[in-house]
Amino acid sequence: MAEAGSQGLTVDLSGQVAIVTGASQGLGQAMAGELARQGAKVACVARNAEKLASVVEEIEAAGGEALALSCDVTDRASVDKLVDDVIEKWDRLDILVNNAGITRDTLLPRMSDDEWDDVINTNLRGAFLFARAASRVMMRARYGRIINISSVSGLMGNSGQTNYSASKAGLIGMTRSLSRELAGRKVTVNAIAPGFIETEMTKVLVDKFGDQFIKEAKTRIPAKRLGQPAEVAVAVAFLASPAAAYITGTVLAVDGGMTG
Ligand code: NDP
Repeated sequence: MAEAGSQGLTVDLSGQVAIVTGASQGLGQAMAGELARQGAKVACVARNAEKLASVVEEIEAAGGEALALSCDVTDRASVDKLVDDVIEKWDRLDILVNNAGITRDTLLPRMSDDEWDDVINTNLRGAFLFARAASRVMMRARYGRIINISSVSGLMGNSGQTNYSASKAGLIGMTRSLSRELAGRKVTVNAIAPGFIETEMTKVLVDKFGDQFIKEAKTRIPAKRLGQPAEVAVAVAFLASPAAAYITGTVLAVDGGMTG
């Protein structure tokens, strides 16, 4: 039986418009594909225009509608313009997935200012900028879904990741507060905390620490395996759906039981 479960979930997002940041590869690519498969028009955001173009091509080849929008999520002017451009093109914005993220792992005593700032700026400030621009539109429309991609590192902490864990825990705080601000306007705000998912981000760790890293990781995962991007993407589709209207301010762990 297939483990990665996008085949199992059908939600109706037809007519809706989504922005997915960090959509050029990995989890973001899977999320963009899943939202498009469920009928949404998807603005795919990242810095690498070439990779974005191929993600959009793939979505279109599968019958979906998507747009490649190259943007650095840390740049306020670019983020504001991007949201305006999406509204101009598609006339609405229903779903925002703040997924763009980076790691700059090292033990805190050795961490440089740049390693701290780059991670906080990308993972937390980027999400703030997009949430601010999107929430203004969603509040007016009295409908919206904001989904912030946190991490188990934001829940449990992880040695060598003080910057990353701080950014991901920060996203959870932001999610909880913003959900309270927007609930009355029918805009939900939730976080997803993935565990170890097979992407370029985790491949870097395998390349650095060898297969032993995966073996050790598996001992900490009750499900005894890494997750697949599609398994996070279905959680995004569910929280993004009209059916999830009464779920807000939560953190959904998609981690094979790591934090359970
Ligand atoms: P990848 O490294 O594979 O992809 C990261 C994405 O973020 C890329 O599309 C990258 O595109 C984009 N990005 C990075 N910096 C910026 C920026 N400044 N502006 C715009 N886009 C940016 O990571 P994953 O797919 O593995 O992870 C996606 C998210 O999920 C991250 O937030 C990560 O922290 C989180 N996560 C991942 C887990 C995992 O096991 N893989 C576990 C828990 C959480 P480009 O470089 O072209 O800009």
